[in-house]
Amino acid sequence: MNNLELINKYELELSNIFKNIDNNVFLNSQKVLNAFHAENISESDFASTTGYGFNDVGRDKIERIYASIFGGEDALVRSNIISGTHALTITLFGILRPNDELLYITGTPYDTLHEVIGIKENYSSLKSFGIKYNKIDLINNDFDYNKIKNIISERKIKVIAIQRSKGYSTRNSINMEKVKKVAKLIKEIDKDIIIMVDNCYCEFVENISPLEVGCDLIVGSLIKNMGAGMCDNGGYIVGKKDLIWLISERLNVPGEGKEVGPSNKNKDILKGLYFAPLVVGNALKVSILFSKVLNELGYVVSPKYDEERADIVLQIEFNNKSKLIEFCNIIQSSGAVDSNALIEENDMPGYEDKIAMASGSFVSGSSIELSCDGPLKEPFIAYLQGSLTYEYGKLALLNYLNSIK
Ligand SMILES: *Cc1c(COP(=O)(O)O)cnc(C)c1O
Repeated sequence: MNNLELINKYELELSNIFKNIDNNVFLNSQKVLNAFHAENISESDFASTTGYGFNDVGRDKIERIYASIFGGEDALVRSNIISGTHALTITLFGILRPNDELLYITGTPYDTLHEVIGIKENYSSLKSFGIKYNKIDLINNDFDYNKIKNIISERKIKVIAIQRSKGYSTRNSINMEKVKKVAKLIKEIDKDIIIMVDNCYCEFVENISPLEVGCDLIVGSLIKNMGAGMCDNGGYIVGKKDLIWLISERLNVPGEGKEVGPSNKNKDILKGLYFAPLVVGNALKVSILFSKVLNELGYVVSPKYDEERADIVLQIEFNNKSKLIEFCNIIQSSGAVDSNALIEENDMPGYEDKIAMASGSFVSGSSIELSCDGPLKEPFIAYLQGSLTYEYGKLALLNYLNSIK
């Protein structure tokens, strides 16, 4: 049996799982289309505006659509938000004030937030403005419900943050069932705590949003799931109206908030949103195919192909630096752009370890496109994401199998 026949054989065993994904793509597409129709999106909404950007009709429609799809009161969706990290930064700076406490309940946050929060010293961090930070680690891949309960009963916490996707850790990502359970516990003890969810890589993986189960804000990137490869950059925040206003005042100007900011990417943002349910479905199928085939070949992967999914990320253990780099090279050489680039160990601004990063993508660093990154430390894990289409992801897997035997 050649490698393509081998992949096809395992692919057949995934047909029920893929059917469930198709069904979820359908439900999320229905949500998106209904929201487009409710706002009557028309060609004139693609036009850009200039100057202050007052009365930017297309921009305002986009933000109402995001709010409607995720069950929020209001939204900020902008191409002058650089990426997910920037969206998280303006969210935290927008809603926290000196002496307030930020509590992460999913352990240490994503690398790029360390200097934002002040976990790593930075003169511009939240810490340097007198904002306190603490974290509670997960236990057995779930929230430490008792510890959370004790802390919020004991002292006033302003913001609780939940990072759903695993980042560069080896824990499981947090599914909506767990988000729902912990949000209920928190709000029963103190309904004024703001629950902020870092939703990067999780959008449209399930058919319900954290805002529909008691959370107050969701935050993410337009160069991941929600951009579907169509957005050159951008980020979004959806949630409570008063909080969105505060965040918009941090992004823009106190007093002017989200009423200013000329837009020039409305068509890309809308097109990305339109494709996002399908593209997230494609990325999930690629992730599950890699998980199934590599696990059958003896690799340690997480999640397993039949485990419930919370995000599009697949973790593959190599336990060996050169094998990890070899895998990244195959992903890079299977990409659409810069396929002849060779992977090097590199320091990335905002990241703790040296990282091998493969992203042969149309949008630089876009990880809804086929990509993988691996921090160069034990146990040498690659985190694989994306592929805009299933077939390009499958081709990359074939290339990898052909390269190893
Ligand atoms: C990718 C990611 C971020 C940062 O988003 P960028 O768009 O890369 O800035 C933050 N949190 C999590 C969990 C992520 O996966």
